[in-house]
Amino acid sequence: HLSLRLARVASYVPKGARMADIGSDHAYLPAHLALNGQIEYAVAGEVVKGPFENAAHEIKQLQLDNVIQPRLADGLAAIQADDRIDTITIAGMGGTLIAKILAADTQKLAEVKRLILQPNVGGERVREWLLANQWQIMAEEVLEEDDHIYEIIVAEPSIVPFTYNDRELKFGPFLLEQDQPAFRKEWLAELEREQVAIEQMKKAAQPPVAKIKEFEREMQMIKEVIK
Ligand code: SAM
Repeated sequence: HLSLRLARVASYVPKGARMADIGSDHAYLPAHLALNGQIEYAVAGEVVKGPFENAAHEIKQLQLDNVIQPRLADGLAAIQADDRIDTITIAGMGGTLIAKILAADTQKLAEVKRLILQPNVGGERVREWLLANQWQIMAEEVLEEDDHIYEIIVAEPSIVPFTYNDRELKFGPFLLEQDQPAFRKEWLAELEREQVAIEQMKKAAQPPVAKIKEFEREMQMIKEVIK
């Protein structure tokens, strides 16, 4: 049984996809899709031995060896040309790490038709990478599970040039429009964190004036969005 978070990520994987799930841990996501006949083939990439063994074990247990390949590799190095991967999922990490993984090996993305990215934090870092590399956001989703709020970002190679402004990069172009309760909750919590941080900084013997100003600007931007 998949978590709501992974079920929502799974929902964006096209039927018949040849997918690579990078940072797959137990390979729950590709295993679920394979068991339901939703994918043709998957690579479950893991850089850490323990999670890689979890993935290999899960795949064997479910007799999915002919559909899913576990690979011990850093990021997109798990993908080989003859895998003919068309869809990549990267879920359950920070946005900075997701962007770093994508940036490290862009040739591996040449034939990829869809990225489904689920940053736990730092969605802005993911959207900045997408914009810089002309991957257009096709859908976004925010969801709450077990007191955590998660973002999902779905992107495809763009045919026409496009751009996002600072507000869209920070909050997500679709998430801004949707203005879901979980979205408001996420940014209200961020406001509170920043308020506390500012108060702490102001107590310092030499308050970092520039940093405080930056946080105040940030808070102003959030307030405008969730007002
Ligand atoms: N994707 C699963 C999910 O969403 O439930 C597992 C998320 S788990 C919190 C993150 C996984 O990413 C860990 O198992 C970690 O070893 C793996 N990971 C981190 N950096 C990686 C990299 N550069 N390449 C491959 N896997 C990586």
